[in-house]
Amino acid sequence: MYIDLRSDTVTKPTKAMLEAMYSAKVGDDVFEEDETVIQLETKAAQLFGMEAGLFCPSGTMTNQIAIRCHTQLGDELICDETAHIYNYEGGGIASNSGVQARLIKGDRGQLTATMIKDCINADYDWLAKTTLVCLENTVNKAGGSVYALQQIADIKQLCEKEHLKLHLDGARIFNAIIQANYSVSEIGKQFHSISVCLSKGLGAPVGSVLLGANTFIKKARKIRKVFGGGMRQAGYLASAGIYALDNHIARLKDDHERAKQIENTLLSLNYIEQVLPVETNIVVFKLTDKYTTDEFVEQLAKHHIKVSVFGKQTIRMVTHLDFTDDMLGETKKQLQSL
Ligand SMILES: *Cc1c(COP(=O)(O)O)cnc(C)c1O
Repeated sequence: MYIDLRSDTVTKPTKAMLEAMYSAKVGDDVFEEDETVIQLETKAAQLFGMEAGLFCPSGTMTNQIAIRCHTQLGDELICDETAHIYNYEGGGIASNSGVQARLIKGDRGQLTATMIKDCINADYDWLAKTTLVCLENTVNKAGGSVYALQQIADIKQLCEKEHLKLHLDGARIFNAIIQANYSVSEIGKQFHSISVCLSKGLGAPVGSVLLGANTFIKKARKIRKVFGGGMRQAGYLASAGIYALDNHIARLKDDHERAKQIENTLLSLNYIEQVLPVETNIVVFKLTDKYTTDEFVEQLAKHHIKVSVFGKQTIRMVTHLDFTDDMLGETKKQLQSL
């Protein structure tokens, strides 16, 4: 048994998903002639109550396009210091958009309207213009923490008042929605743009969708082409996304339950210093000095279990579509035997 808990991106398409891909009707999407891509974009937009969608190769691209669309050269955006857009997108905020980031130390990666208000620059010649706020839900670095809807609504209200745009890095927004019990359309109402990953917990092999108003998506489409993300017969990939939206959302609760069980096991072990509270499918924990992270990873690798180093003495495990109850049993067993 090979168990890969490094990320929820490691899933392979199921047979049924592959069959949907195989029979997709395709065309040249740069000419807007791929009906399956259009179907995915429309479907995702409608789910969130947004006007339009844009299918892109990755979540990095959807985020970076959104930042470029919402800002001008020399502007400042506000995000949490742990944000994916700042830490894991290769410095793209600066290199793609010529924008700088104002980082906030949020609470488990989450910002509040009050925190943001204090960081909006006044209108002086010598200050960068604040134009955009970016939230992440669930927050990857914080162990998959979930925003409360009211907290987001307060931020939205502030952004409207201050004429700021509000973008959501919703790589795992469906994990948040399943966990928090708010609806997809309630989330859709809060943001000017949303990036949704299809290749994380939803189990598609490739792709993210960017959602927003018609004018925003028109601009985003042009930027996607400039970034090199205009794809041709992309319907084969889009059909996997459609299949994922139809079949893989409700089951995310199984991933959450399995993550919770890993948390419970970890809490009973003497080499664990701390486990971040598990809310969704991400388990982040700190080791005592009994093991270095490299030793810990190596020990588990001997039993064919892969996990990632996620900082100083810190490990991350992510449950997903290809992580079964049998694998959960084996993982618990091996963790207990260390
Ligand atoms: C995975 C991820 C993304 C996008 O990553 P890609 O690998 O480029 O698709 C964006 N934000 C968060 C929080 C993520 O976890």
